[in-house]
Amino acid sequence: MKSRRVQEEASRHRRPSTRLPAGVASVLSVLSSSAVVLDHDDRVLRASAAARSYGLVDGDELMVGELLALVRQVRRDGEIREGEIEVSGSKFGGRRTSFAVRVAPLGSEVGGGGLVLLLAEDQTESRRVEEVRRDFVANISHELKTPVGALALLAETVEEAADDPEAVRRFSGRMRQEASRLTYLVQDLITLSRIQAAEPVPDPIPVQLDEVVAEALDRCRMKASARGIDLAARCDERLVVLGDEDLLVTALRNLLENAVAYSPEKTRVVVTAARDGTDAAQITVADQGIGIPERDLERIFERFYRVDPARSRATGGTGLGLAIVKHVMAAHGGNVTVWSREGVGSTFTLRMPVLSKSPAGGLATGIMARETDI
Ligand code: ADP
Repeated sequence: MKSRRVQEEASRHRRPSTRLPAGVASVLSVLSSSAVVLDHDDRVLRASAAARSYGLVDGDELMVGELLALVRQVRRDGEIREGEIEVSGSKFGGRRTSFAVRVAPLGSEVGGGGLVLLLAEDQTESRRVEEVRRDFVANISHELKTPVGALALLAETVEEAADDPEAVRRFSGRMRQEASRLTYLVQDLITLSRIQAAEPVPDPIPVQLDEVVAEALDRCRMKASARGIDLAARCDERLVVLGDEDLLVTALRNLLENAVAYSPEKTRVVVTAARDGTDAAQITVADQGIGIPERDLERIFERFYRVDPARSRATGGTGLGLAIVKHVMAAHGGNVTVWSREGVGSTFTLRMPVLSKSPAGGLATGIMARETDI
């Protein structure tokens, strides 16, 4: 096989007069897409680094037959063409890549005629995003259909039971339940879209984690006490992070609400906030609940993924709680992890960069008292 240099030498000898029109090289060098200029006998005169790294061009050859056919058509009739192609296989880095391509004649009146410009834009990521968006819309429609359908049915039933006050009361209660399910779902959707648009958190301010813990606990007390669940908390140190207090409270409240919802009555949920190493803060929420099967652990942070859909619905879950937690942590430059064992319990851990120690520098004990008798 001839070396690339020998090939280039040979092709230069074949076409002494073929030159790029003035200025084209510098224009191509600033384009982010893959750009290739081919001469009158399909040899590559110039290719951007992207075109080579995607494997579209090797030496002075265009490696995709479909693109070569387009180039020839364009050279024949001078018409600009657009299209989409997909390449895969070892020649192209072993991955499947979709390109939007545009092929146009280039400066045929200058120097070597028959030059053709090929631009190829990698569409793989935007395709994936589009697919995720479509799935999300389909999921939302499905999630909305259930309570809306139930409301319609219940309204009909109430109408039919107009002269039975007891039945009317019962069905009205069910209607209220379905209406709150809808409200929670819409609220979670709004939170999720707000947080997704705010990664990283815009205008972050110093937030004290002990206050986040106290506020989140406050909002879960009623649900916990209704099920006789003991909520305990321990903050070893005054920890400050840079972020959005409301979002952090929402994330922690979601973890606490899950811990309560997926635990048997009269168990304990323990929250701790502590420094993890030198520059990270860590909040854990540990329960003695039903646990999560290992095969589901990776997926529970996906929107609308539930281990047991019936149980999630029964507890008023929207299926968005952990997706919100994941995005809140990403917006704070942190992450969320989970440990769980079926029948033993689960521990969720939030980690994020810490801003500084307390002014006193020491341990601030007694900030969070253990909470019993809630
Ligand atoms: P949901 O509104 O259904 O609770 P989440 O996104 O908050 O939605 O959680 C996703 C799923 O993860 C839940 O449906 C449940 O199956 C599981 N899960 C979350 N937290 C816990 C927990 N502490 N214990 C057991 N299972 C949990």
